[in-house]
Amino acid sequence: MSDPPADYDRVVIGAGIIGSCTAYQLLKAGHRRVLLIDQFPLPHSRGSSHGQSRIIRTAYGDVEQANMARRTRLLWRDLEQSAGETLCVDCPLLLVAAASHRDEFNTYVSCISNQTIYQGDQLARLLPAAAFPDGYTGGLDDSAGLLRADRCLLAVRRLFVSNGGIIRDGTPVTAITPVEGTAGEILRLEGPSVTCRGLVVCAGAWAARLLSPLGLPRLVSTLRPEKVAVTYWKVKPGYTVPLAGIDLTGVGQQNGHFYWLPALEYPGLVKLCYHVGVPCDPDRRDTVRMDGVLQTTKEYVARTFPGLEPEPAIVETCMYTVTPDERCILDVHPRYPNIAYAAGMSGQGFKMGPVFAEVLQQLVDGQKSQFDLTTFSAERFSADVSHL
Ligand SMILES: Cc1cc2nc3c(=O)[nH]c(=O)nc-3n(C[C@H](O)[C@H](O)[C@H](O)COP(=O)(O)OP(=O)(O)OC[C@H]3O[C@@H](n4cnc5c(N)ncnc54)[C@H](O)[C@@H]3O)c2cc1C
Repeated sequence: MSDPPADYDRVVIGAGIIGSCTAYQLLKAGHRRVLLIDQFPLPHSRGSSHGQSRIIRTAYGDVEQANMARRTRLLWRDLEQSAGETLCVDCPLLLVAAASHRDEFNTYVSCISNQTIYQGDQLARLLPAAAFPDGYTGGLDDSAGLLRADRCLLAVRRLFVSNGGIIRDGTPVTAITPVEGTAGEILRLEGPSVTCRGLVVCAGAWAARLLSPLGLPRLVSTLRPEKVAVTYWKVKPGYTVPLAGIDLTGVGQQNGHFYWLPALEYPGLVKLCYHVGVPCDPDRRDTVRMDGVLQTTKEYVARTFPGLEPEPAIVETCMYTVTPDERCILDVHPRYPNIAYAAGMSGQGFKMGPVFAEVLQQLVDGQKSQFDLTTFSAERFSADVSHL
């Protein structure tokens, strides 16, 4: 078999959920020669998109992200139709918060259609496996669901390939060079040795490493890769956990918050995790210990979930790439408008794959987005590295 052509209309670096959706979206937008590259043989579990379950929700801390979340829900339905399989299962999401986080709670609840507020006994009836402290308030995002993450990833890549896209896995990109004399209209990649007219970088925890030599050094201090613990807990006899949930107490703060969901991958277990990780080099994450995170999670379970066994049944790991404000970056390179990038998904990006793909395709193609992207620009961090 001969090698695929070395010159492409568009190249996407990173075959996680953001890059895979973007590559497929570029084909849908009319590009013919689209290449999706990943450094590891696929599938792999070294990035952020592996595993079998992710929450999809409309409740967000601001209106623009809630608008995007509504759009992405529709796009996942379209993908399900195209793929001919169920990618998303309905699962209402319980939002709870202590009185100290009432403002954040109100903002999240303002994004959902069900405005009923639950307290005390009402909360206990919704989720008998939990015992939220006095003063806690609850709301229900009825539009939420669980994405079957592995299947989503496979389905999007399959759609990409069956529509003419090319994947090269096991191929690290080592450098991106705007070709001299072309004002950057042509980009040369090293590693796979290809050229292209437009590039989208969706490199997850490796984004800063790849983009900073292109004159974006600030990304190194803005993007913080973290190792996170994915912990699964056995439900005690007599209890069920039919709702996903987020305890917004601590949201946006350094001490963090907790979330949970019925584990699609391990029946009878609940995936309950601390939304805080330990900073790490993504290539050396296995050397980082998670004792503190595990201890904090155990204490939360003991305090708040009497319906769960007190020790985790399974512990796995994954990666976050966190920005100082825990919102991601969707932007174009200030000098080379044919390089768009997504970075710093901050542990919330999976559900947004299809809608971010639309935005990234529009960015790299020089089109206007229907969304206000001001708060997604890298520029907002120009003076802010205060989390370091
Ligand atoms: C435990 C956990 C729970 C989560 N829960 C949720 C949830 O409930 N809902 C939700 O919406 N989100 C959730 N997220 C977040 C979501 O999974 C991530 O935001 C998302 O998967 C990020 O995708 P990505 O494509 O940006 O990164 P990745 O999946 O990491 O993909 C980046 C890819 O780029 C490749 N790459 C990097 N550098 C190079 C290079 N030089 N050359 C070639 N390839 C390269 C990597 O190999 C990798 O495959 C969760 C994340 C974790 C870890």
